[in-house]
Amino acid sequence: MDRKKKLGQFIEACRHSGLKITPQRVAVYEVLLTREDHPTVEDIYNEVKKKYPFVSLATVYRTVETLEELGLIRKVAYWGSSVRYDANTSDHHHLICVQCGAIRDVEFCLDWTPPTNIQGYRVHKYSLHIYGVCPVCQAKEN
Ligand SMILES: [Zn+2]
Ligand SMILES: [Zn+2]
Repeated sequence: MDRKKKLGQFIEACRHSGLKITPQRVAVYEVLLTREDHPTVEDIYNEVKKKYPFVSLATVYRTVETLEELGLIRKVAYWGSSVRYDANTSDHHHLICVQCGAIRDVEFCLDWTPPTNIQGYRVHKYSLHIYGVCPVCQAKEN
């Protein structure tokens, strides 16, 4: 993923929708672009705070919402846990650890495409969630 290009897109999208481009806003997106563990808003906040100690959680929330509205990030819904965010907006699947809640992208090719119409629903996009125990948690079991 080309981070510079993506950041450029973000700044362009902000300009387009008349949003102020602040270093804090850019930092929120940067965190999302560098992390592949699908962080929560709190995770992002804690990381941005290291660089900008006066950033507020509300600012981070609003920026994340804006990024989602702009289609630059997406929600990864996961039951029993807070909402996680993903800067990888291409169609891909997720591996979820049922013990620690870690979410990783599936790196092998899953050769499966749903029908375009399921039970009367027009299918827009799809994502598989595969649940299991991650290597870190497995190591703790022994
Ligand atoms: Zn785990
Ligand atoms: Zn993902």
